Amino acid sequence: MMTTVNAFAAQSAESALAPFNFERRDVGADDVQIDILYCGVCHSDIHQVRNEWGGSIYPMVPGHEIVGKITAVGSNVKDFKIGDLAGVGCFVDSCRTCPACDAGEEQYCQNGMVATYNGMDKGGSPTYGGYSTLIVVDQKYTLHVSDKLDLSGVAPLLCAGITTYSPLRHWNIGAGHKVAVVGLGGLGHMAVKFAAAFGADVTVLSTSAGKEADAKKLGAHHFAVTKDPEQMKALQGKFDFILNTVSAQHEYNDYLSLLSLNGTMVVVGVPPQPSVVAAFNLIGGRRSLAGSLIGGIKETQEMLDYCAEHNIVSDVEVIELKDVNEAYERMLKNDVRYRFVIDLASTKS
Ligand code: NAP
Ligand code: ZN
Ligand code: ZN
Repeated sequence: MMTTVNAFAAQSAESALAPFNFERRDVGADDVQIDILYCGVCHSDIHQVRNEWGGSIYPMVPGHEIVGKITAVGSNVKDFKIGDLAGVGCFVDSCRTCPACDAGEEQYCQNGMVATYNGMDKGGSPTYGGYSTLIVVDQKYTLHVSDKLDLSGVAPLLCAGITTYSPLRHWNIGAGHKVAVVGLGGLGHMAVKFAAAFGADVTVLSTSAGKEADAKKLGAHHFAVTKDPEQMKALQGKFDFILNTVSAQHEYNDYLSLLSLNGTMVVVGVPPQPSVVAAFNLIGGRRSLAGSLIGGIKETQEMLDYCAEHNIVSDVEVIELKDVNEAYERMLKNDVRYRFVIDLASTKS
């Protein structure tokens, strides 16, 4: 039996999100059905709702930081049972046969992973995300969620968490490394928590002077305001690793020059506009510029387990679904402390 779901959707790049109903598929043999309790609001939701990256599919139900309770499982499902907490991140399927999928890096699937929303599933139907009350997902793309942590703070781990955890692990960041996190928003505040937990010396580079006290509370050791040329000058050549989470147009060159010999800047933020890179900023200091996309299912589970063990969650402001348009406006003003999370349970009642 198909289930009708209440949601919020954008009907076009220009329209605000508004109430929308649609049908979720039947629970197949390999599926779990999740009653959604919380869904985080990622800046990628704004980029896609407003078609800033191109190719957006409407109506669009955003949301890829999903946690909830399992209410049904298919006959082949052994690892999840009704009543378990579960999570869904940025993708719900992939080809399962390419080298990236084989390696457990489904986010880099060579045949294209199926995005949780703004994507097309294998049957050719559009996918709808977590700004909704219920989702049906293949067990292979479902995560186990601990009941030890505050569930609203767990939701953002499914994107903001894994997107920052994965590059820090890939580049083996830990004690002895000087790390800068550029942008203290949803991704940035998780990057600070993880880099500090891994033992690095962490500096936040922010356009918002008012975030210094928060940065220190989150675990940062230092803070600099990027709009102040004197502070930036003092940091030239200082960092082994920079994680750049900025969502809007900015100059990579301003940050590349802060890298030490052999330093790497990893871009995770995806501004719609390209940034120019001066060769001199790379050859001087044999620096690297790299990028990273979320993380695979295996690593996402590892990250969730790490968070449960180390008591790490996102700092959230819980909102109702009807308030999501206002949350977008606040995020665009860099006024998020540090992730908006939609309470779907309150929306249902
Ligand atoms: P967010 O919560 O809105 O945070 C972005 C932060 O960037 C802001 O709070 C602000 O921090 C800083 N910023 C904004 N405009 C800036 C500018 N013009 N110059 C310098 N800094 C600026 O966004 P988010 O959810 O963390 O997402 C950040 C970006 O990552 C988005 O582009 C998103 O699409 C992308 N993303 C990528 C992946 C991936 O897999 N690679 C996954 C998720 C999201 P300050 O106030 O501290 O300056
Ligand atoms: Zn995201
Ligand atoms: Zn694949």
